[in-house]
Amino acid sequence: MEALVDEPETFCEIHKDRPTRLKCNKCGRYMCTKCAERTPVGYRCKECIRGQMAIFDTATPRDTLFAFVTLSVIGLVLALIGNFIETISGFGLYLALVFIPAGGVIGTWLATLTLKISGKRRSKLLFLTSTIGFLLGAVLSLVPCIGINLMLLLTPNLSDSAFPLLGLPIGTTVLVVATAFGLYGGLTGFRINR
Ligand SMILES: [Zn+2]
Ligand SMILES: [Zn+2]
Repeated sequence: MEALVDEPETFCEIHKDRPTRLKCNKCGRYMCTKCAERTPVGYRCKECIRGQMAIFDTATPRDTLFAFVTLSVIGLVLALIGNFIETISGFGLYLALVFIPAGGVIGTWLATLTLKISGKRRSKLLFLTSTIGFLLGAVLSLVPCIGINLMLLLTPNLSDSAFPLLGLPIGTTVLVVATAFGLYGGLTGFRINR
């Protein structure tokens, strides 16, 4: 009759009406099956898991801002160079054959650079901000590029097939997108404990 006295009933610390015997193996609190998360090292409570993730979210607002500014300048310069190559070569879309792999390589390299800038501190926000910064910089220089290309296209002596289709820097746009993918992929792909 008094069998339960030896083992007093324990309850989830969050859901106080749910009896449970499960304990977080880090902080030792009781938790119900809904509160427990299975990890490679055993069951842990949500708070301990959140605390663990916070260790990897180390980028400061200053890191993020600095990466944003640097990457937008790089995006601006890269798009200018790409448009220059595209305009003088007149290859347009065919340049994509070179620009797609080149963008992947440049993007991966930019990811390394971004982490160098942030002192190896990282966060999802930092990854997103640097990629968006890069794209914004590129767009900022592509808009005047389109204008210049259109002007060249409309100049009688120069308006032959040597200029990009309708003045749109298609090859350069491909380069920018490929680089952005390389950058974001490189940033998120880096092992968290490296
Ligand atoms: Zn815990
Ligand atoms: Zn619970």
